[in-house]
Amino acid sequence: MASIQARLAEITGPSGVLTSPDDIAPYLKDWRGLWQGTALAVVRPANTTDASKIIRLCLAENIKITLQGGNTGLVGGSVPGKTNGIVLQTGRLVHRLSVDQNNATITVGAGVTLETAQTAAAKFNMRIPVRLGAEGTAQIGGLIATNAGGSHAMRFGMMRAQVLGLRAVLPNGDILDSLSGLRKNNYGPDLKQLFIGSEGAFGLITAATLALQPAIEGRATALVALSDLDALPKLLNLGKILAGHGLERMEFMGHTGIGMAMENVAGTKLPFLNCPRWCAIVEIVTGDYASAGQTMMCLLEDALEQNLIDDAVPAASNAQAEEFWHLREAVVEGQRLAGPQLKHDVSVAVADLPELIQSAQNQLETRFPDCKINPFGHAGDGNIHFNISTPNIEPDRDAKISELIYDLVVKMHGSIAAEHGLGRLKRQRYLKGLSAAERLILSSLRQDLDPGGIFNSHILREESA
Ligand SMILES: Cc1cc2nc3c(=O)[nH]c(=O)nc-3n(C[C@H](O)[C@H](O)[C@H](O)COP(=O)(O)OP(=O)(O)OC[C@H]3O[C@@H](n4cnc5c(N)ncnc54)[C@H](O)[C@@H]3O)c2cc1C
Repeated sequence: MASIQARLAEITGPSGVLTSPDDIAPYLKDWRGLWQGTALAVVRPANTTDASKIIRLCLAENIKITLQGGNTGLVGGSVPGKTNGIVLQTGRLVHRLSVDQNNATITVGAGVTLETAQTAAAKFNMRIPVRLGAEGTAQIGGLIATNAGGSHAMRFGMMRAQVLGLRAVLPNGDILDSLSGLRKNNYGPDLKQLFIGSEGAFGLITAATLALQPAIEGRATALVALSDLDALPKLLNLGKILAGHGLERMEFMGHTGIGMAMENVAGTKLPFLNCPRWCAIVEIVTGDYASAGQTMMCLLEDALEQNLIDDAVPAASNAQAEEFWHLREAVVEGQRLAGPQLKHDVSVAVADLPELIQSAQNQLETRFPDCKINPFGHAGDGNIHFNISTPNIEPDRDAKISELIYDLVVKMHGSIAAEHGLGRLKRQRYLKGLSAAERLILSSLRQDLDPGGIFNSHILREESA
């Protein structure tokens, strides 16, 4: 095996191959600490050509490859199993970072973090309209591979909607160069779509060109106390009527999540005297602050009049708006710090959000009274993070909780993988539910692209040893 490591280092240079247990340990465990694998090396190519050579060498030697970006994925897709393969980590693929101001695009290496790409775009008064809590670590390649969502998806769509072109290495080492900034292109099927949202099953993304949007000129943000959960879709609808596309974000959270945020995360503030049962953060973005503020005031007045909200605090400054968003992010971190939890990233039609939450909550409270139920998420696109804190890890009970939630979602024609993907967490259920046609498409692609099954082989298929 030493000779393989040496041959890999010949391709990348010595700094591109990590082998000591201490050096590779962080790459073997996922963000949630649920999956822990093994690997003979972590290999970090600095460009597409080297990535291609690494993949060809692994193919020739029958060495399994697990692709990893920022390792912030929440479904166990970015870490290896118990194999003697390599982790191909993209952190050095930062060779391209250029903004085309007139075309409103940015071209970046797959290893560039979302935050770094945002900083580059901001210099030209533009932005990538995807924001999420892990943006300081999550990388462009990982974000595309998982078709990440986040709070702006209701207005701008998920990562797929931002990708104009990309470059990828196939599982056989061939390079697909589709790095274009075109907004219209019907020259045959759009092959790059194969790599977006497929979690690295069909290739390694090494660079991408993304569409940019103008930077935010004026925004108005408010934290509101909802009169009840049924008011949530009505408030969303009212916001769309009054603000049109200017309604950019609407997130919701409940008192359980807010409580865990306040208790466990520094700097978390709630501007209400008593914690409401349900809160929403509403953000309107327009060309200037005055018009955003006026539209927000109309929305809040109408919402009060229609009894959709009991109280509202419009942010008096950018700093206060950021405090509201900090509270929303702290719901995630607060629950993580509170102890074991089960995460369910699901979606239903926006109008069905209250029914799903209420039915699940009623059943869970009766059957699992010692669990804390914390649904929160992206109201604008019906995406709920239905997270449950449990007193301990108990696989049988935990499986029953997840089944209860997933069954309800499926009954309501929703999705049990709204934005985080399948990874290891949901692949069994996904594979079991495939139709014959879906199975045929997937297995044909896999068979042709990766007949040896060495490439991210835990994604979209049963894991072999
Ligand atoms: C605090 C926190 C908040 C989050 N909030 C959100 C949110 O709001 N919305 C959301 O959608 N997600 C969210 N996530 C999940 C996560 O950040 C996203 O899934 C993100 O897109 C993963 O990017 P990454 O670079 O960390 O990828 P990784 O975790 O490293 O990899 C994810 C998957 O993509 C594959 N992959 C990675 N890089 C490549 C590549 N270059 N080419 C091909 N395949 C590749 C991996 O094999 C793996 O299957 C959050 C995570 C955390 C920790």
